[in-house]
Amino acid sequence: MTYQHVKIPEVGEKITIVDGRINVPDQPIVGFVEGDGIGPDITAASMRVWDAAVEKAYGGKRKIHWCELYLGEKAASIYDGEYFPPETLEAIKEIVVAIKGPLTTPVGEGFRSLNVSLRQNLDLYACVRPVRYYQGVPSPMRDPGQVDVVVFRENTEDVYAGIEYESGTPENKKLAKFLKEEMGAKFFDDAGIGVKPISPFGSKRLVRKAIEFAIDQKRESVTLVHKGNIMKYTEGAFRKWGYELAKEEFADKIITEEELYNEYGGKQPDDKIVIKDRIADIIFQLLQLRPSEFDVLATMNLNGDYLSDAVAAEVGGIGIAPGANIGDHVAVFEATHGTAPKYANQNKVNPSSLLLSGVMMLEYMGWNEAADLINAAYPKVISDRFVTYDFARQMTGAHTVSTSTFADALIAKITGDADDLGRFERERRGALDAERKEREARRVENPLQAMRESGHQPSTAGGIMSPTRSVSPGTSVEDAMHKMRESDVSYLLVEPVENEGWGIMTKRDVITKIVGANKSTHKSTVDEIASRPLITVPTDASLRSVSLMLSENNIRRVVVESRDTPVGVVSDTDLFDIVEEFGWGTEE
Ligand code: NAP
Repeated sequence: MTYQHVKIPEVGEKITIVDGRINVPDQPIVGFVEGDGIGPDITAASMRVWDAAVEKAYGGKRKIHWCELYLGEKAASIYDGEYFPPETLEAIKEIVVAIKGPLTTPVGEGFRSLNVSLRQNLDLYACVRPVRYYQGVPSPMRDPGQVDVVVFRENTEDVYAGIEYESGTPENKKLAKFLKEEMGAKFFDDAGIGVKPISPFGSKRLVRKAIEFAIDQKRESVTLVHKGNIMKYTEGAFRKWGYELAKEEFADKIITEEELYNEYGGKQPDDKIVIKDRIADIIFQLLQLRPSEFDVLATMNLNGDYLSDAVAAEVGGIGIAPGANIGDHVAVFEATHGTAPKYANQNKVNPSSLLLSGVMMLEYMGWNEAADLINAAYPKVISDRFVTYDFARQMTGAHTVSTSTFADALIAKITGDADDLGRFERERRGALDAERKEREARRVENPLQAMRESGHQPSTAGGIMSPTRSVSPGTSVEDAMHKMRESDVSYLLVEPVENEGWGIMTKRDVITKIVGANKSTHKSTVDEIASRPLITVPTDASLRSVSLMLSENNIRRVVVESRDTPVGVVSDTDLFDIVEEFGWGTEE
């Protein structure tokens, strides 16, 4: 393709998409739009840092060849007043990966936001916002280090699709009449009406991107965030389609949260990502109270808009948050703030949002080593209190530096002692791993408590069972009683004897069959007083079926079985506690 002003570098190769996966040569061509206002300052500074990190990580074997593209005011000055030149779109499609500074949307009728136009024209349907804490950044949280999530927000549907009818207009009246008279809908007269389209196509492609990312970046889980309890056929359907997609396309790489507890006893296999879901309002609470429970979040447009800014604010990052808009063929990384025109060309502002979007871009390209160098250098510079004015005003004893000096300080760390930086990132990863292991230990030790803490509402026997404790059939009743007391349980499972399956011995059995029968605890074995066969339910039995089982058999606890082996026990107290905590309504 020939362009009027875009010059594709002669050295360097194009990035391609092969079978839906990005293929990055060692000398890729990457597009950049410097942006308006503060854009040129932050772009120049960030490019120096990205190049230095790539050079340090790969010693010249890999190098980005930059291709300037034009949007906004710079485009208008080159393309005769055109803010959104069509050839920029064509070039982005050809180059596949680009990064952009902020753009001015000209004020006045008839101008669509350039960012919205870009997303729509390139079908960039996933807005991706990673939010993690960098040590030293001012934050309102007590323990911001726990925050490390990536929000995948659907970019094209939902109430943002622009299907809205203003109160009092003929279109509004026509639609209101149809809804009321033909569909039986009830709402106040003259209400403005918006439509919320959520499709299986739109939902599934977004969830697919989130799961692929989680697998590529070895993340722990993907959480579908929705208000499906209220909006069943839009948000509830998003949840349903999300799980469907996960099962259809990633069956060997994912497990559901229920499977994590029921089949794996809370231990997450190394090669599996957990897929779970949470109601949107609960996730807002939990991201403040227990953020480490969450990793990759996939959600619809409106939830995602609120959520990404809310989480970014927790790590002091709303002004430094990186972002990207990604489609099937093209990815555009961008600063998430605006052009801050009053600071234009003053070499003053914080380049972090664009800089960290570039880190995301390097990770997207699979150049994690270069990304890691920046991630490790960044907190070191901040901890040295070497910061731009915006951070300086929130810190004590800060050295206020310019945009370019901040970049210089980063480059000095990146090109300095590599071992030192490597250790820093390794330590961070080590801390995250230790956190994961702790969470796993809590899930194994006390699954019910772990589920509650992570906001999961259990719905099956496997979800509320306590781990089993067992003894061999020849154990004396006396020893078994000691074991029950030490473990604070009122029953023990008894291992199988020949031709007979597992049994159960309860406190009640001791009272009636030993004390009542005047036998010796010392001489009697548990086998003599155990009840067989066990009354069992499968791990995925619903809570209602468990309660029916208890009442029909007039028993206090039922054994949960998986592949003919007891894996847990559910008692009437367990059921009572869950219903007390979460309530009980009619089942769907
Ligand atoms: P803004 O440009 O984000 O600036 C608002 C304030 O945020 C600034 O005055 C400054 O605060 C702070 N700020 C923003 N970027 C900063 C940085 N890199 N370092 C330090 N502080 C920073 O928002 P706006 O004034 O509402 O919008 C200005 C223009 O940007 C508009 O034309 C708008 O359409 C456009 N915009 C573009 C994008 C985009 O391209 N992605 C996004 C949003 C807005 P202090 O004054 O307190 O220092």
